[in-house]
Amino acid sequence: MNKILFVASECTPFIKTGGLADVVGSLPQALKQNEHVEARVILPLYDEIDEKWRDQMEYYTACTVELGWRNQEASIYTLNYNNIIYYFISNDYYFTRKGVYGYYDDGERFVFFSQAVIEALAHIEFKPDILHAHDWQAGMAVALAKIMQPVEDMKTVFTIHNIKYQGIMPLAIFDDFFQLSREHIAGMEWNGMLNCLKGALFHADKITTVSPGYAEEIKDPYYSEGLHPILLERTDDLAGVLNGIDLKEYNPLTDPFISVNYRSSRIKKKENKIVLQEKLGLPKDSEKPLFIIITRLVEQKGLHLVQHILDEFIQEDVQFAILGTGDEEFESYFREVSNRYPEKAATILTFDEGLARQMYASADFLIMPSKFEPCGLAQLIALQYKTVPIVRETGGLKDTVSPYNELSGEGNGFSFVNYNAHDLLSVLQYALTIYNSPLEWQQLLKNVNKSRFSWIDSAHKYAGIYDQLKPEPILI
Ligand code: ADP
Repeated sequence: MNKILFVASECTPFIKTGGLADVVGSLPQALKQNEHVEARVILPLYDEIDEKWRDQMEYYTACTVELGWRNQEASIYTLNYNNIIYYFISNDYYFTRKGVYGYYDDGERFVFFSQAVIEALAHIEFKPDILHAHDWQAGMAVALAKIMQPVEDMKTVFTIHNIKYQGIMPLAIFDDFFQLSREHIAGMEWNGMLNCLKGALFHADKITTVSPGYAEEIKDPYYSEGLHPILLERTDDLAGVLNGIDLKEYNPLTDPFISVNYRSSRIKKKENKIVLQEKLGLPKDSEKPLFIIITRLVEQKGLHLVQHILDEFIQEDVQFAILGTGDEEFESYFREVSNRYPEKAATILTFDEGLARQMYASADFLIMPSKFEPCGLAQLIALQYKTVPIVRETGGLKDTVSPYNELSGEGNGFSFVNYNAHDLLSVLQYALTIYNSPLEWQQLLKNVNKSRFSWIDSAHKYAGIYDQLKPEPILI
């Protein structure tokens, strides 16, 4: 039996700001299918976590986390959800704030979290064979696990969900926070700064990322955000495992968030579209092709390309809706677009899971022209709801969406290669011509219908990676 402890800063259904939460929520559940693996999860206990969950948590124990010159108390709570044990680390100073990220001391908050995880290992009865940490917020847990060996023979896996976010802080934090000898600075330092992601890449026994395409890309300076030298050094230990989605959760036949559930033989897109149009104040017309974007509003998502061409594209006979939160630059741009074209464009600047589902169920196209995309879940969810993805060929988008080819009748979406607004515009216009050609459109939807990205395959691959790390049994 391989005992795995997932360490992460978010996890569905408790706390989510993006795809990381979906992965940390789904993978332990999917690993349950494998009787040789037991996975548990450890998370910060944010105030933001709903009362509904807090009420079900049980106090487990308290511990003291020694931080350089001062101590912080951490309490550990547990919750059994769907037969997975979750541990939550509470701390009155770091996690009793609104939201999840965005504080000046985020680096310090998650260094604390990582230290608390290492401390917790001395207090919980679960002694993992493998600590599997996710993204920079959990990166220092990998480094500390390697240096301090809190559990004998424990190995580490680190998964990069997005290399852009690294958790970079002044080196002074090292002495301020860690009771470690200075020789350990080298593994955690990058360009004169303390770098949580680099610390994990240096120390992890295995490194994974969330698609094979991204695993290759991040060895290249264009995508590596400066970390290609270390990834090239660790290339033998680096693997790309494509994320899946929870097909039970994202099931338009049963999804309680959508207005009209599909039937196995009938996609109820038009019915859902009318409800959505009414909700968003767009003219009700079930035939009108509806293009949507659901995303964090950040540069990574290719929104500058959309900005360049939206005025032109919206002159077509289409509707456009965007759901997202993020940078003010994009929020005000899209707000302004929907003011200018109230009959054609809607902008919703909130995080709303229910509305997102209704949009996936109603739209004909999802636009995702990312500059880079480690895996991307939105396009996978779109495919589940028979919404055709239009993507830039990068990372996981390239691994999951193949461009429709009229000659062969193959392909489950549309794509373009260069990070160029004109290429995006051409592919949007091409998608529209296919939408208006009933035979082609039916063929494309057939292909979309066959696209399935479940967790089963991915969980199998992760289990294989854990097996590689398991110490050989001692034969007598
Ligand atoms: P990332 O992890 O970079 O944010 P992904 O495509 O991997 O991007 O995952 C994004 C997830 O968050 C998807 O499940 C998407 O539907 C959801 N999401 C993004 N923005 C919103 C929003 N404003 N409201 C609801 N869900 C959102």
